[in-house]
Amino acid sequence: MLKIKRELINQIADQGEKGYPYEICGFILGKIDYENNIREALEVYQVENQNKERANDRFEIDPKDYLKVEEYADSKGLQIIGIYHTHPDHPDRPSQTDLMFAQPDMSYIIMSINKGKAGDWRSWELVGEKFEQEEVNQID
Ligand SMILES: [Zn+2]
Repeated sequence: MLKIKRELINQIADQGEKGYPYEICGFILGKIDYENNIREALEVYQVENQNKERANDRFEIDPKDYLKVEEYADSKGLQIIGIYHTHPDHPDRPSQTDLMFAQPDMSYIIMSINKGKAGDWRSWELVGEKFEQEEVNQID
């Protein structure tokens, strides 16, 4: 389960609208309770989408950004608990490419941006070799 503040969702929505018609992406930082499988989101950290050719339907994260964010998270006593990205004019369901790069024990938030306006979003987690919708506890 993912616990996330409304404020963080608003930040993703804002970034997604600004980045439209391209996909934007970033990291979700927070804490993981492995025993109860609860990830608590405390910050979002946008990074550049490295896929320039197909930025409207693909995203790629530079390994350097990965390291940078990991260091930042460490310095604040947080962990990378997930990755978020937007789907401009597409539903908030993961694509085949999303599945290919997915890792276990992470939350994948996908937000649909319709004609420039933030729409539905869901969080997904890898269960076996498939994505399943993750339960979300949105807090104020
Ligand atoms: Zn995607």
